[in-house]
Amino acid sequence: MPDYSKIKWKYMFILLFLFLIMVIGRIFYDYNHYENILQEKVLSLKKQINNSFQASKQALNSKYKTISYQFMLDDKLAKMQQNHQTKLMYNYLKNNYESLKKDEHNLYVMHFFDANNKTILRMHKPDSFGDDLTKKRPLIVYVNETQKQISEFEVGKNGTVYRITTPFVYNKKNIGILEFGIKPDYFVEYINKNFKVESKILVKTDSLKVLTKKTNFKKMGDYSIVSQNKLFEKISSKIDLNKPNQLIEQNGESYIIITDLDFKNHLGETVAKIIVAKDITEYIQQNKLTRLSANSITIIILLLALIILYIIFTKYENDLINSYIKVSQLEKKSTYLKNKSNRDSLTKVYNKNYINKYLKNYISNNSKGVIIFFDIDHFKNCNDTYGHLVGDSILKQLSHIIQNNLRDGDIFARWGGEEFIILLEDIGIDKASKIAEKIRKLVEKTEFTQNIYITISIGYTTIKDTDTLNSLMLRVDELLYQAKENGRNMCISDL
Ligand code: GH3
Ligand code: MG
Ligand code: MG
Repeated sequence: MPDYSKIKWKYMFILLFLFLIMVIGRIFYDYNHYENILQEKVLSLKKQINNSFQASKQALNSKYKTISYQFMLDDKLAKMQQNHQTKLMYNYLKNNYESLKKDEHNLYVMHFFDANNKTILRMHKPDSFGDDLTKKRPLIVYVNETQKQISEFEVGKNGTVYRITTPFVYNKKNIGILEFGIKPDYFVEYINKNFKVESKILVKTDSLKVLTKKTNFKKMGDYSIVSQNKLFEKISSKIDLNKPNQLIEQNGESYIIITDLDFKNHLGETVAKIIVAKDITEYIQQNKLTRLSANSITIIILLLALIILYIIFTKYENDLINSYIKVSQLEKKSTYLKNKSNRDSLTKVYNKNYINKYLKNYISNNSKGVIIFFDIDHFKNCNDTYGHLVGDSILKQLSHIIQNNLRDGDIFARWGGEEFIILLEDIGIDKASKIAEKIRKLVEKTEFTQNIYITISIGYTTIKDTDTLNSLMLRVDELLYQAKENGRNMCISDL
């Protein structure tokens, strides 16, 4: 029986292998897909924050430019400015300045300069004026020189400030500068509020030299961290300022970091920047959970499919085994029946019907061989003396002895009554004569049941090319007859 179990397991292993490839493929695809989504999320956040940062700068610029121009249209103020009337100016502008501060709490500086970079009035520090800032404030020098309206980040004596600096023109003449300064917290607050992020400001360490009050800021590359918070303290060692955006994962927490919100000066140099951190821990964990359950479901489905296939295969295997058993039982039965129809019921050697068919076929194929035909001598007497049952038993015993003394390929059959026939295939007459004689002697010396001895008479002949079954049997029967005639217990052939 084929080893169905082995075949089943072979296919199970192939399927398992395919399923494994599918699972690995699925996990690989999922990982790549997830990485892409994450990257897209980082880039889109970066873009949004950048756009918003630029827009907030522009809004701030145009707001304070407009306010500056409104002040410059005031003749009274222009005259005071022209005449360096600091105290008068302060009193004149006090209320305005208060309401501007109320409007924007990050407004930190309102500063009037003359055309030679000297302070006329600091609304934010009215007692300090008259100082020349040519050496400390390159932006003021540049605006006085070029008469351009410039907005940029610049560190002053009193702090790190984003400045909207406008040339003060009166009667088409430059009479100095009006500068508004906004704390960079404005941008931090704006971004934090709109994007639910945490931000901090970094200022180029070089540019902090002009500060009157020296502070020991923490450093980050060329920058000093002028505003700090707990989140950044945790992850600052992992932030790479050279990367515009980053994904930092630490202690199970995940952050998107954006570092390219730069403040450039009029020379195009970056003087400060805002770093933004967005906590996406929850998003990542949720995503991981969703992916884990999707992958688990895939694996469970594949496993279930594998189990179902195993059950189907096993059932199929059992069906195959059962049908195989049935088929082999049927085969055995049919062989048995076939044997039965070919065998003589008493002696169990081939019967006349079988040897007839066999011989006909054998002769028609022009096969060579010798036919031995024999008959028990005076068997009738034996029957009469010992009874028919003893006669039957002798027939059985005789068949048994002769069958055991023939070669494997020889065909031995009961022709009828107490006559038997042997076909010796592909054999010479010399050898055949020896066999015929051997059989005769074997019978002669055998003691059968109840001490009975019998003899047989044998006729034998070679099969000729011209023979039919009929001519062959006639000839051999005649030879047997001659043996009987000549005194029995002998072998006679026609050769
Ligand atoms: P011989 O052949 O030597 O001329 O004498 P014979 O007595 O053997 O004569 P014949 O061959 O004509 O007789 C055949 C006898 O064989 C007749 C019958 O009693 C016996 N016989 C035939 N078939 C069977 C059988 O199946 N069983 C038994 N017990 N006897 C059988
Ligand atoms: Mg006879
Ligand atoms: Mg006889």
